[in-house]
Amino acid sequence: MKEIVVLSGKGGTGKSSLTGTLASLLTEKHTIVLADTDVDAPNLHLVLAGKEKEVSTIGKEKEVSTIKASDKASIEYDMCSRCMECVDVCRFDSILVTDQPIIIPHSCEGCGACNLVCPTGAVQVGPVINGCLRIVETPVGIIVSGELNIGESSSGKLVEVVKNRARAEADSIGADLLLVDGPPGIGCPVIASVKKADYILLVTEPTPSALHDLGRVIETIVFFGIPCGVVLNRADLPGGTRAEVVHYLQKNNLPLLAEIPYDLAMPMALAEGELVVKAYPQAISSRAYVELSQKVGEML
Ligand code: SF4
Ligand code: SF4
Repeated sequence: MKEIVVLSGKGGTGKSSLTGTLASLLTEKHTIVLADTDVDAPNLHLVLAGKEKEVSTIGKEKEVSTIKASDKASIEYDMCSRCMECVDVCRFDSILVTDQPIIIPHSCEGCGACNLVCPTGAVQVGPVINGCLRIVETPVGIIVSGELNIGESSSGKLVEVVKNRARAEADSIGADLLLVDGPPGIGCPVIASVKKADYILLVTEPTPSALHDLGRVIETIVFFGIPCGVVLNRADLPGGTRAEVVHYLQKNNLPLLAEIPYDLAMPMALAEGELVVKAYPQAISSRAYVELSQKVGEML
């Protein structure tokens, strides 16, 4: 099985639309499982108009629907001598001082330092529920999707959980492609999402901020030695910086796999809850997507 991860650096470049559209086109010749690792704002299921399916009907355990992907400290006050050593040692200012120490759960990083210094053993550090995992059925295959709870921070760990589950689902049905809708940025969730990837599909748009963020994510990918290619979305955007993007790619010897034109058929299709290649197959953007899917199919 091959694993392709779609990244962009900057959010809002059309990453999920491209992932969903590509999956729809590739599913004619390939068995695909999708993973949505944008755990702060998963939306691939919206693009593909999926229906949520009870996790228990696919997974072995019902509790896989909630995820414990981070550790937090808690205090047993009956054992606490109010020495406040835990407050002094916390580098994250996650313990408030009143007449007793109070852990602030949203800023606690679970480092365990307070547990180490506590003379009475009153502090415990253990896993807490910080997100959930969903399996969504769509017309092109299932999506394994993770969503972090509000205010939680262990997105890299949750991405790892999502990808492992997606690989298990793919193995169970003999899929030959795991297509991953990655998170924006270059932080922990991105690094977790590219682990074991065979190829990275980068989506960008002709704007200075998108090019800047593309450069950052390319540096990250190059560090890991994963091959990649670029898709320029809304390529002919009026006032756009297409020439700069093309120049950057040539300078860095990166392949431009496709240019998707700025096409009103795309938002029209999205508003109808459809993919552009389904709703408007003759649209210029649909034809560009078909060419891209053929290239990706050849690579596979
Ligand atoms: S586990 Fe670490 S971050 Fe959390 S309260 Fe203790 S020292 Fe602070
Ligand atoms: S270090 Fe332990 S005993 Fe001291 S205030 Fe913190 S929890 Fe209480």
